[in-house]
Amino acid sequence: MNGKADMKRPGSKVILSIGGSDPSGGAGIQADLKTFTVLGVYSGAVVTCITVQNTTGVFSFQPLDAVLIQKQIECVINDLAVSHVKIGMVGSAEVSRGIGMALAEFQGEVIFDPVLRSSTDQSLTADGNLHTLCENVLARSTVLTPNLPELAALTASELSGHEDIIRASVHLLGNFQRLRAIIVKGGHGDSKESQITDYLICRKAPGADDSFPNVDIHQQSHPRIHTRNDHGTGCTFASAFAAFHLRSGDDTEAFRQSVSFMNDLLAISASCTLGHGKGPLAHHLMTGRQGTHP
Ligand code: PLP
Repeated sequence: MNGKADMKRPGSKVILSIGGSDPSGGAGIQADLKTFTVLGVYSGAVVTCITVQNTTGVFSFQPLDAVLIQKQIECVINDLAVSHVKIGMVGSAEVSRGIGMALAEFQGEVIFDPVLRSSTDQSLTADGNLHTLCENVLARSTVLTPNLPELAALTASELSGHEDIIRASVHLLGNFQRLRAIIVKGGHGDSKESQITDYLICRKAPGADDSFPNVDIHQQSHPRIHTRNDHGTGCTFASAFAAFHLRSGDDTEAFRQSVSFMNDLLAISASCTLGHGKGPLAHHLMTGRQGTHP
């Protein structure tokens, strides 16, 4: 097995999700698979870490063997017509390297949600090794979906407004040649603001001026939905983008659809009572509303 992705492989296009397992079903691989199913897209899953968590927090986690993870990814992309890989929690430097090796020759879309901390503020990186994560995973990504704290951490900068968000994104697009687009989710901004703005920042001409790429900026502003039930929002948003992108092949369309899907999902989940803490999104209430992909 050499991990080479043959994009001409017959059969329907599918997504492969690579991320951590949340046994309470709210975040990680479980949230990804529910999202893909609701959006009518087939997916496989490779687990990077087992977490011990529920709606009240993440209590511990254990990264799995990096070689085993690498072999699983290669095994799936050598068989199924994987057009999109979605990556969430990686968990250790070794796992970053295993993923990087498995995807070395993969030519499809790699949508990376750079999970660093949970919304209950527990670290989700074993050794905090951002450099290895960037070298092995970010360097192979085509689309990055950070929230504001993640964008700040990846660029070692403070973000105090629109200009800073654009500058930080342009900086990353300049440093990572495969990156085509960055979606910055605004939900972690000032919680007193009644509006949230999400950004899609796209490289205009790939490789035109890599030291300071020209970008197209798209913004979507929408009312903040006040809810405790937002556990798994980041995983779900990146997965929705991957699924909509598989269906349309278009960044702006997939961005617009995933923002709208998240608003509907947050709204429908708000009245659920699941667990004692930050309740999960209720993907199951969205079934049958979103159409399917063959
Ligand atoms: N656990 C896993 C496995 C995750 O991938 C994530 C986020 O991506 C989390 C927990 C944290 O989710 P949240 O920040 O929505 O609580």
